[in-house]
Amino acid sequence: MNRKKILKKVRRVVIKIGSGVLTTPDRSELDDNIIEGIARQVSNLHKSGYEIILVSSGAIAAGVKELNLKKIPGDIPHKQAAAAIGQSHLIGKYERHFKKEGFKVAQILLTHDDLSNRIRYLNAKNAILTILSYKVIPIINENDTVAVDEIKFGDNDTLSAMVANLIEADLLIILSDVKGLYRADPKLDPTAELIPLVRKITNEIETMAGDSKSTIGVGGMVTKIQAAKRLSLSGIPTVIVDGKMKGIIEAVIGGEDAGTLFLPEEDKLGSKKYWIAYTLKSKGKIKVDDGAKNVLVADGKSLLPSGIVDIDGKFKSGDMVSCIDSRNREFARGLINYSSTELKKIKGKHSSEFEEILGYKMVDEAIHRDNLVIL
Ligand code: GLU
Repeated sequence: MNRKKILKKVRRVVIKIGSGVLTTPDRSELDDNIIEGIARQVSNLHKSGYEIILVSSGAIAAGVKELNLKKIPGDIPHKQAAAAIGQSHLIGKYERHFKKEGFKVAQILLTHDDLSNRIRYLNAKNAILTILSYKVIPIINENDTVAVDEIKFGDNDTLSAMVANLIEADLLIILSDVKGLYRADPKLDPTAELIPLVRKITNEIETMAGDSKSTIGVGGMVTKIQAAKRLSLSGIPTVIVDGKMKGIIEAVIGGEDAGTLFLPEEDKLGSKKYWIAYTLKSKGKIKVDDGAKNVLVADGKSLLPSGIVDIDGKFKSGDMVSCIDSRNREFARGLINYSSTELKKIKGKHSSEFEEILGYKMVDEAIHRDNLVIL
């Protein structure tokens, strides 16, 4: 399938804007020209019937400038303070530039915890879709003030992929300070070639992304490729482009060749399975025997406690756990029906024995196939 054909069907788009794009070339402050350009293009697209959701970084960078600090603070409370101070400044700029185009904006701050809870996940979805129905531009960022490690997305590449899946977007555009994916790191090798189209994110592609890091944002090419990979499983294409290029958003949506386009997988996961495998964090590991692995992978069956040989971690019923095989490789993820304490007692046992061992029986399956994703 070619680029033009894919982009023709696109209506709902998530655009991730990195800190490196939003700041001036010396990276000391937010760049009004860039924000103005984004507001103009997004407004034009909204007027022609597209639905655009922004995931914008830049809060910490803006806070650093507002506080006259020399660099991003190292410790968490100072970083969180900078994010809170910078976030209002950032949203203020968007508000001003969108207002000139006749649009209002809505600020949404999320943590990973919000999207791990199915009810809050669906609440966020409904709120964002309602904001869009008002023809208002949602602008999302991580709620850096409260996000400590366990509840963090960690970077806005990951957040933007989760948002694209949440609202069932047709496309994710990552506006970056690099032009796309190169065969080698262009900072080290100026002759490195840009890859315009990636059909499948193979190990080779992941290696190419190396561990390049942008100096101002949190993610590097690795988190962008991970975001594109996860989204491809959800049937959503991703484009990584140079966010500083004039008119780049309209060019991408118009189907022009720019940056790297990652095609979606044809065999896509449903939105709920995507949420299980890629939005939730794994709370433990379940080792299964080869026979059980085979019926899960080849026959699409549920996991029964009889096929479990070992349990690692402390989890409760409803948590997401990883299934690992006899060679300790993770091959599936799913929502577990029994806690780790219960499973330790009933592993390797037949369901007719559960009641005698536990004093009750909930269900036969440790993980029901509807809640199981083979990786
Ligand atoms: N949430 C951070 C900020 O607004 C940025 C995270 C990222 O760059 O990925 O500054």
